[in-house]
Amino acid sequence: MTATTVYSARRIHTMNPAQPTASHVAVRDGRILAVGDLARLQAWGPHTLDERFADKVLLPGFVEGHCHLKEGSLWEWPYLGWFDRRDPAGKVWPGLRSMAAVVARLAEIDAEMIAPTSTAAAEAEASGAAQAPLIAWGFDPIYFGGERMTVAHLDGVGDGTRPIVIAHANGHLMNVNSAMLHAAGISAETEVEGVMKFDAGPLAGQPNGELQEPAAMYLVLKHVGNAGLLAPLSEAGLRAFGAIATYQGVTTATDLVNRLAEADLAVLRGACGDDHFPVRIVPAFQAFHGTHGAAAGAEHVRALIATSTDRLRFGLVKMMLDGSIQGFSARLRWPGYFNSPNGTKNGIWVTAPAQYEADFETYHRAGLTIHSHTNGDEASGAAVDAIERVLARAPRPDHRHTLQHGQMIDAPMFARMGALGLCANLFTNHLWYWGDQHHDMTMGPDRAHRLNACRSALNAGVALAIHSDAPVTPLAPLFTAWCAVNRITPSGRVLGAAECLTVAEALRAITLGAAWTLKLDAEIGSIECGKRADFAVLHDDPFELPPSKLKDARIWGTVLSGRVFSASE
Ligand SMILES: [Zn+2]
Repeated sequence: MTATTVYSARRIHTMNPAQPTASHVAVRDGRILAVGDLARLQAWGPHTLDERFADKVLLPGFVEGHCHLKEGSLWEWPYLGWFDRRDPAGKVWPGLRSMAAVVARLAEIDAEMIAPTSTAAAEAEASGAAQAPLIAWGFDPIYFGGERMTVAHLDGVGDGTRPIVIAHANGHLMNVNSAMLHAAGISAETEVEGVMKFDAGPLAGQPNGELQEPAAMYLVLKHVGNAGLLAPLSEAGLRAFGAIATYQGVTTATDLVNRLAEADLAVLRGACGDDHFPVRIVPAFQAFHGTHGAAAGAEHVRALIATSTDRLRFGLVKMMLDGSIQGFSARLRWPGYFNSPNGTKNGIWVTAPAQYEADFETYHRAGLTIHSHTNGDEASGAAVDAIERVLARAPRPDHRHTLQHGQMIDAPMFARMGALGLCANLFTNHLWYWGDQHHDMTMGPDRAHRLNACRSALNAGVALAIHSDAPVTPLAPLFTAWCAVNRITPSGRVLGAAECLTVAEALRAITLGAAWTLKLDAEIGSIECGKRADFAVLHDDPFELPPSKLKDARIWGTVLSGRVFSASE
């Protein structure tokens, strides 16, 4: 299309400091031709005036710098989370507020699975074929005080013969019942780190059904065709993700763990090659557990870069050092965990630091941008140490390497990151979803007040993005920005008021800030001449609402490379 469309709007917030607001934007060939008032745009020649957004507010399309496309496909399984949650169709599933409610919900699902829906199912059952496993997701026992889930809870579901797999919200842990432990061959003799065992009572030494981190979870996942975050991407799941992105104003989203195997690529190319798919996808190659050799991985990603299109971008690599703080599997510096059910035990190295440094160097020398998962401060420190040495051996300007989560990074570590040119994509949704638990249980009050220290990052000159890690928490960048602005927990506590961002700073972090970490800031993240015509279309102006209501700004839909997507269609 070479025609020019001019959109009028109640207000356009551009994120371009040279021209912060405007009333009109002209779009040609999927890009922004001009921004300003109608008279200025008319100088570009004939155009069609489109007034459908005349009473709406336009912002740059939101950029989610750390999420997973499984946000769409996890809804194939029942949701067991503590918070109410909206599914791709817009239905809100109520949260489950006690361990008993979780077990009762599982019993209902088991009963539904038993009810013969076809003669084939009944015959299969009668012939003694293995029962289909019950897989569910979104669970987190930390909301139930100190009580952890064990086989004792799950073995009471149904007659105890159906294998049950419960993926935790954080993606790092799962719980299974005795039938699943048996089917997977996990016993008292299993010596794999992360296979948790009863440490007292009559069952001391027996596996208790909790599995931490990929090596332990894989023992089960290989028997159920994968589940939770590690399940394969489906076409339908990707479409569901697109629906969520549209109603949350997101036009560019990462998939921050993707094997990029042929099957994954076929699904991605199918969706992103369709003009009606509403989101640009930036998948990151899974460069840890389960992949073979950094040199081969780097070669694979480099070859894929040549096949990038506007809406499917290759070039990111994801590495992983530790686990999750609320799962007590993150690596913490002294003084360690505050009130851990595991006592004084530290978390798990998903990748040993020496291996991380060697693999990081291989991907870095191949010219790729590496995003490293580091939740605990010991893991963040290990990454900064390793990257400092790699950059001394192999300097490379403007690498945009990014620490992902970085939840416990303090001012001195941000100063080192700033000096090294490292970006931070902080997990501000934790302030709401686990802020009280971090204060009371995982790290205690002192460190909880510097949780996701956005202000310290900016003060140190560190390029800042903020994220949801969906499906760990819901994809909703305005909510993520609200967390960074208000830093409030469900109990009403404000964690570290000195770290609060302004609304303008938080909105920058979910647009230009995230685009910067993806090295796409020359193309997206602001509304200015030459960039892709990506807009978040809102009913409400986030700058007119009180900061405490930022999350409630209503979203109409999006525009992606000039194509309009309404959330209600
Ligand atoms: Zn993630």
